[in-house]
Amino acid sequence: MTTMRTISVLGATGSIGASTLDLVRRNPADWRVAALTANGNVAELARLAVEFSAELAVVADEARLPELRDALAGTGIETAGGAAALVEAAARGADVTVAAIVGCAGLAPTMAAIEQGGVIALANKEALVSAGEVMTAAVERHGATLLPIDSEHNAIFQCLQGNSLDHVRWITLTASGGPFRDWSLDRLTLATPAQAIKHPNWDMGAKISVDSATMFNKGLELIEAHYLFPVGLDKLRIIVHPQSVVHSMVEYRDGSTLAQLGPSDMRVPIASALAWPERMDTPCAPLDLAEIGELTFRKPDEVRFPATRLAREAAEAGGGIPAVLNAANEVAVAAFLGGQIPFTRIAAQVEDVLGAYAPPAPASLSDVLAVDGEARARASMLAGTA
Ligand code: NAD
Ligand code: MG
Repeated sequence: MTTMRTISVLGATGSIGASTLDLVRRNPADWRVAALTANGNVAELARLAVEFSAELAVVADEARLPELRDALAGTGIETAGGAAALVEAAARGADVTVAAIVGCAGLAPTMAAIEQGGVIALANKEALVSAGEVMTAAVERHGATLLPIDSEHNAIFQCLQGNSLDHVRWITLTASGGPFRDWSLDRLTLATPAQAIKHPNWDMGAKISVDSATMFNKGLELIEAHYLFPVGLDKLRIIVHPQSVVHSMVEYRDGSTLAQLGPSDMRVPIASALAWPERMDTPCAPLDLAEIGELTFRKPDEVRFPATRLAREAAEAGGGIPAVLNAANEVAVAAFLGGQIPFTRIAAQVEDVLGAYAPPAPASLSDVLAVDGEARARASMLAGTA
């Protein structure tokens, strides 16, 4: 890359935020950092803002703003706090906005960035799952460029370059199967949060780690793929691939299957999005297939892991139903992490909420947020966390 571009990282203190900023750190001449945001980790946010000479640092938890101001006093870095400040920061626009907040909490700021029409490098899958049609319509309307950094979607995006969706026979999302892929249903009922957040292949935030263990991650990704690559749900499949080397595949009508392979390091898909349509270096070790030896594949088991079935049904129903699935899952994951419900209740509870609440299709961001709020309230009642 030759010209310097501006970048904002929404969710700078998380796992995706750290991987993104690691790439920025290695290429200081290419980037000027506009806004960095965090939920409540003020010390880390302030450290990053100083290291990267950010223009603006925003903490979503407004009560922590005085602490952020103190930490950045005398640096010339602007500070702000609260949910509205997060949206305002995103609305300032940047050449590239990395949407890396976890959960539907990232939806409003991501939409604000989309309205500025730049490149949105999207990790925050819950936002797209909740607002599918509303978000993709906004991307179109504002001429924004939505580049997926979820590894599967980035793989599919790469495999589709130079090809038409009309020629696609299948899009196959690979899934590691998570830490419990070989556990019996009986054993799953006893799974603990500590076991769930220890992913065999990837180092990720707590929420997506639990999603990986339940397979809701793949369910959310199925819905994400449905909105990003509109080939029809009947052409989207999931296959379990424990080594996480093949990140996803596209099969064309002539029988050619293109796959993207790489190490289990999110810096690879993030680099692909940051440099697109060019390429940039990453510090990741080259892929050594002889060392890996074997790549294996198997069908998902929807009896032990009902999440992908629930997600497919939600995508088929469309409208507000994916937002209900997402919100119910977010509440159930938090209840599981808080020790309030057992692991196998996560999917059961999502299914209960889906059975009880079928809102009309949302037409705007505020409609989506209303559906999300109502689904959360119902899910919290069920989880006993209301
Ligand atoms: P994480 O928990 O490590 O980080 C989340 C970030 O969001 C943090 O900066 C946190 O401060 C911020 N945040 C959390 N709650 C917030 C709120 N209510 N308001 C504002 N900010 C808030 O999560 P992560 O693993 O980096 O994942 C981020 C997103 O990327 C998720 O949607 C996840 O599904 C997706 N993703 C992650 C990975 C991965 O390898 N970690 C891979 C693919 C996709
Ligand atoms: Mg993924």
